[in-house]
Amino acid sequence: MSSAVLPERVRASDDAPDWYGERGMVSPSVEAAPVRVIYIAGYGRSGTTLLDIALGQHSGVMGAGEIATLARHVWPNDEYCACGARVHSCPMWRGIVETWAQGDETDLIDDFRRAQERTETILGIGRLIERWRSGRHAARTSKLFEAIATQSGCAVVVDSSKLPGRAFALAATHGIELTVVHVVRDARGVAWSLKRGFKRQIDVGVQRELVPKPLLYTALRWMIVNLATERLCRRVGPSRSMRIRYEDFVSDPQGIVRRILALAGRDVAVEPGFAPGPMFPKHQVAGSRHRMQPEIVVAQDERWKGAMPRLQQWLITLVCAPLLWRYGYPLRIAAAKEKGA
Ligand SMILES: [Zn+2]
Repeated sequence: MSSAVLPERVRASDDAPDWYGERGMVSPSVEAAPVRVIYIAGYGRSGTTLLDIALGQHSGVMGAGEIATLARHVWPNDEYCACGARVHSCPMWRGIVETWAQGDETDLIDDFRRAQERTETILGIGRLIERWRSGRHAARTSKLFEAIATQSGCAVVVDSSKLPGRAFALAATHGIELTVVHVVRDARGVAWSLKRGFKRQIDVGVQRELVPKPLLYTALRWMIVNLATERLCRRVGPSRSMRIRYEDFVSDPQGIVRRILALAGRDVAVEPGFAPGPMFPKHQVAGSRHRMQPEIVVAQDERWKGAMPRLQQWLITLVCAPLLWRYGYPLRIAAAKEKGA
């Protein structure tokens, strides 16, 4: 496809510095072998989209964003891709969906969305029911990831859908070799971030109005989602899963990416000594609004330590203490100097 028809942001991305110094590396063949998928699981506002973008800087890795949303609302509503185009006009996603839909029914998107609703819950009753059915949803899921790998020319696909229930379903899907990255962030930072709402503004990546979340709601859900993700990691095993902290990722993004690729990539080598620098979103669908920025410099965000009232910090700590302790977060927080996002 001629670059003349590509959106401006796509051309800008192609001209951007190669984060890993690997431009021109021949991608390994993706034919026949299972598609290697790095699934980023965890709670919202924990840097999952940033990690997706960071992994996607590698020429052998397709950072695809929250793939769970493709059939749910991204494709039906023709939402924006991180390249700046709407998905129906984005050459990457248009090609993926055309390849995926070849030989399938005309109601593929609606049918797939309904099957997702049955199979991607944490409890997984729908997954059992689906197994008794034709297996068509699993075959379509596998075919979607094959289409992403083929269209992008990448050996590894990143899915940052976050939901542990979806990953349970993917772990049981033939044709997918799953590696799970459990991303955790201090619950107090998450709760403070979720107290801020956003008006719907689709061109900057906010697809629906985000209402502020009550602290207790966030604390309880943070516990449930992280416990479910821990169960997921036990299910896939230590050789196919790892836990990282958001705070460690923003301190050393290249180091964390190197660790993840060492676990999941095998032949997707990372040159030692590549320089840190800005990163450039490519074709992530859905996820945080950061993906719509032309370039991103990852930085620590600890503003909550200075801004969040002590009583609120203690309320979250009370509910989340067992997991905060397990993930290495101090239960007493010293006020910090404000830092940039
Ligand atoms: Zn795109």
